[in-house]
Amino acid sequence: MLRISVSVFIISAAFIACAKNPMSGRSQMKLLPESELQSMATTQYQQFLSQNKVVGGFSNRDAEMVNRVGQRITRAVEDYYASKGWSNKLKGYQWEYKLVDSKDVNAWCMPGGKIVVYTGLLPITQNEAALAVVMGHEVTHAIFGHGNERMSQGVLQLGGQLALSVALANKPQETQNLFLGAYGVGTSLGVLLPFSRTHEYEADHYGLYWAALAGYNPNEAIPLWQRMEQASKGQKPPEFLSTHPSEGNRIEKLQQYMPEALSLYKPIGN
Ligand SMILES: [Zn+2]
Repeated sequence: MLRISVSVFIISAAFIACAKNPMSGRSQMKLLPESELQSMATTQYQQFLSQNKVVGGFSNRDAEMVNRVGQRITRAVEDYYASKGWSNKLKGYQWEYKLVDSKDVNAWCMPGGKIVVYTGLLPITQNEAALAVVMGHEVTHAIFGHGNERMSQGVLQLGGQLALSVALANKPQETQNLFLGAYGVGTSLGVLLPFSRTHEYEADHYGLYWAALAGYNPNEAIPLWQRMEQASKGQKPPEFLSTHPSEGNRIEKLQQYMPEALSLYKPIGN
């Protein structure tokens, strides 16, 4: 009897939590409450920043650039969502943009808009528009709830027949590792999960839009990804590619998305 009611709970939770993304049109299973993820993100973000070297604010040109690009990208997202009447989807978002001193080629965005760019990414982005493409990609993973989908699958495996809340309460360490893995953080834990092909295409696709709407030339995405692929042939492949894999036809896909992105592009005057 208990087993039946728990199964019914999971099935009904899955049913309730399946929502269609208005932009991509894809149905997504998101079992975790967004507020719960945002509160985990706040804690994990603070912890990450306290354990890593944050590159100082206005005195540093690179940190200033990360801040500027982040603000422009997220304003473009907010304006677009407002124009569609979707602002409630960004509820609780309090954007933060930090540059962290690390040789790793990486960047990520946690739920609620907590962004980190690693200094090791900058020799590959090389210019502000390419950085905007990467940040647009990361922001898309967050606002589309890709990490929630990844965690939902993981929690179901972790909890087996248990209800989600029980899994979260009884296995805090596993849940935390799952969280960090789902958002591309936490290499030291060895839990880097690659985003799926579907997630990568969505992040590439709409990341280009945000870059274009923020006034950055989306064409910079092509040479950026070529440089990233080139770097993957080196001795230490970019960490970024282990969480954001290229399936070989990334450039081809980007070229398909480009005309629409270019139609949104209004260059900023600098
Ligand atoms: Zn990605």
